[in-house]
Amino acid sequence: MADIGGTTGPVGKLVIRNIGLLLSGDLARPILDADAVVADKGRIVAVGKARDLDLDNAKVTIDAKGCALSPGLIDSHVHPVFGDWTPRQSQLGWIDSFLNGGVTTMISAGEVHLPGRPKDIVGLKALAITAQRSFDAFRPGGVKVHAGAPVIEKGMVEEDFADLAKAGVKLLGEIGLGSVKAGDEAKKMVAWARKYGMNSTIHTGGPSVPGSGYIDESVVLEADADVIGHINGGHTALSLKQITCLCERCERAIEIVHNGNELAGLHALRIARELKQLERVIVGTDSPAGSGVQPLGILRMIALLSSLGDTPAEQAFCFATGNTARLRDLDCGLIEPGRAADFVLMDRAQHSSGTDLLDSVRKGDLPGIGMVIIDGVVRIGRSRNTPPADRVPEIVH
Ligand SMILES: [Zn+2]
Repeated sequence: MADIGGTTGPVGKLVIRNIGLLLSGDLARPILDADAVVADKGRIVAVGKARDLDLDNAKVTIDAKGCALSPGLIDSHVHPVFGDWTPRQSQLGWIDSFLNGGVTTMISAGEVHLPGRPKDIVGLKALAITAQRSFDAFRPGGVKVHAGAPVIEKGMVEEDFADLAKAGVKLLGEIGLGSVKAGDEAKKMVAWARKYGMNSTIHTGGPSVPGSGYIDESVVLEADADVIGHINGGHTALSLKQITCLCERCERAIEIVHNGNELAGLHALRIARELKQLERVIVGTDSPAGSGVQPLGILRMIALLSSLGDTPAEQAFCFATGNTARLRDLDCGLIEPGRAADFVLMDRAQHSSGTDLLDSVRKGDLPGIGMVIIDGVVRIGRSRNTPPADRVPEIVH
């Protein structure tokens, strides 16, 4: 059985009541008229008003004390290696630190920081399969790290993608970090990956660190990967004109990252809004990277896109939850029956000038996290990383 961070096996009934604000993760209806959530065996089974739900015989009951509940946050773009260690900035425990920032799911955009990373085809396939297995069996703090994202290289053939998919690999690492940098070559491989059910991301903009590449708008359009990875650069962005063109001329996910160019990120958001396509916007940190790791990076993206991006906070939360889940084909990210019971409970930080949680985020403040739950199991209480909130949920029994 997988080590899911302290607990194994199916978890019993979980009841969360007294929820002051229920953020659904769904852009079409970001706030639900509900104050209680019931989960069983790690899945949501009911959402609604406490008086209408069966709250009896719970194994664990949580009094939210009026805090807001959101789906667990998803970081659409990370570069893990193995375990809870990153060689990029020689840090241990970085994933657990992200859990304290509300992140319950991470998507690898390639295990590119492995010292001596293999670039031959059999080697890169072996690494991807090993990373997928490793993070499937070991979840730091309970965080679900979807890893095993091969960085494609010249010379790969369709059979390589079939092999990878058969072995359980579901992602492609950022296209452009390996030797495949031409649009026509990338297009062929993205199509093979898609044929075998793999989700793909392309690097966008200038090289991130020495050794990675420059990918311009014409290559991104031709490659047609599922996600326009860090459309705001990682860190060097394309021109705003090229970013506009990417938003307008393809329908793929628009990923905005913390370790990118903020001006370019806000521009991409504005264009997506003008196109009435906010459902394409997803967020990541693109960490660990040269800019380090950001345990509160996803919360900071939500606050940035809400405050400077002129977006209601309840919508900005959807960029980090429901949108990503839909575009990455994940079973979490929304508060609805059948979804994974991954939750963040939070409230307005103490002394924020905002009148409530949403107003504080709209004013650029970060919320205070009081509890994080993954697969129906309480993983942490009050976050060690966020500013403290006035109200903190309590485990009643
Ligand atoms: Zn990149």
